[in-house]
Amino acid sequence: MPETMTGPVADLGATLMHEHVFGLSPEILWNWPDIPEGWDLETRAREAAAKLDALKAEGIDSIVDLTVVGLGRYTPAVRRVAELTSVNIVAATGLYTYDALPPYFGNRGPGSLFGGRDRLAEFFVRDITTGIGRTGVKAGMLKCASDHLGMTPGCERVFRAVAEAHLETGVPITTHSAQPGGLEQQRLLASLGVDLSRVVIGHAGDSTDLAYLEELLAAGSYLGMDRFGIETISPFEDRVAVVAALCERGHADRLVLSHDSYCFNDRFDADVVRRRHPNYHLLHVSRDVLPALRERGVTEEQIHQMLVGNPRRIL
Ligand SMILES: [Zn+2]
Repeated sequence: MPETMTGPVADLGATLMHEHVFGLSPEILWNWPDIPEGWDLETRAREAAAKLDALKAEGIDSIVDLTVVGLGRYTPAVRRVAELTSVNIVAATGLYTYDALPPYFGNRGPGSLFGGRDRLAEFFVRDITTGIGRTGVKAGMLKCASDHLGMTPGCERVFRAVAEAHLETGVPITTHSAQPGGLEQQRLLASLGVDLSRVVIGHAGDSTDLAYLEELLAAGSYLGMDRFGIETISPFEDRVAVVAALCERGHADRLVLSHDSYCFNDRFDADVVRRRHPNYHLLHVSRDVLPALRERGVTEEQIHQMLVGNPRRIL
């Protein structure tokens, strides 16, 4: 049974595979507290739970919270949200960097200034088997990232550790990718012995290049069509058209949907986001994307595959 923040759940139902509850910058909060109303755990947890309950009312049962270390993961706060909402939250482990590792890891491990063991895989496995921090919450997904810089040495160490933790635990992998970097990610993971059908190439939906997307699919991975609402990267019409085209070509069994949205994120100015990305919120898929897909001929069965069947198989 898949793990969630409140324990294993028999059936996750309709699942958004790439979301975030809290994106926090603890070092900024400690030193330059700049949120006028402050960051109070209970207040923020209640706010976030209300947003997730609204999502439940739109037919979504579960989210995967891909906030890993590097994005301000603070599991006690998210666990409190999970206690307050009826939406299941699957936790993730991994490390988010596009470039170098944080010094804690960069100064350890083979080839580093001080040498010694690389502890990344050990920590990822601990999150999955024992639980995150002292919360007892077990991670159900592994995450690694590379972006416009490609597979830097720091990114590669994370990918290697994620592959090791995956092979030890069987927990699936999702990536953050910038196109066409998904292919490089697949090559590395496959070379490390990972079955690519256990991997979601995240943010693949930012691309409109069907040849690239079908190359990723041919290698067996799922594609994250997971940034609905981030119009400046790819607009609504393009994102919908790509999903509809891939469904028409028979790939609905390999696509997952999401927003890459946050209940609360201190790295954005919320007012600016509301103005410039009015659809960048958790309800966009249910309210706007699914109707647009139906209009373009995507069937109920295909929507069920993308929201229910595929997440169930992955998790
Ligand atoms: Zn994300």
